Amino acid sequence: MRDKLRRRYQVQKEVIRNGHFEGDIALSELARLGELLYPGEADRPDRKIAVEFEFLRNECEIPMIAGRLQTSLELECQRCLQPLETPMKLDFRLMIDASDELLRDSSVDTLYSEDGFIDVFEVVEDELILAIPLVALHENSDCNEHWPDSSAQSEAAVKDNPFAVLQQLKTTD
Ligand SMILES: [Zn+2]
Repeated sequence: MRDKLRRRYQVQKEVIRNGHFEGDIALSELARLGELLYPGEADRPDRKIAVEFEFLRNECEIPMIAGRLQTSLELECQRCLQPLETPMKLDFRLMIDASDELLRDSSVDTLYSEDGFIDVFEVVEDELILAIPLVALHENSDCNEHWPDSSAQSEAAVKDNPFAVLQQLKTTD
């Protein structure tokens, strides 16, 4: 059975009862993520992140949170500065308060509780921040007609300025 999602959880209690939760988080609740999106996007009331997760113990008896989230975010295309709708769907799996020793031998990351409590909104926000592309670009490379990417222009630029090559390396993905 799944319970309604809330923000804070007492880890030990939820691990013992194998708490399983599901619900939506409003994008407007995630301020750090909002700063990385298309301007104004984070304030739209219809933007939500669907989340479900459970608390469990791994084979070393360490508490864990495991779940998945799904949403669609509007990023800013770095070529034309227009919005770029980006569907996101990802699984997450984290130990809670694992020791450094355990972390060394594990491919799974840990999060640290605060007096035994974790904030699931922060977990979801961190996962999304890590997952969104560093540089968002429309698939259609012609989305900005003023973008100087025709080969003729690039060659001319290289001839005029050898550092343009470096510049291109920096700006292309
Ligand atoms: Zn674009």
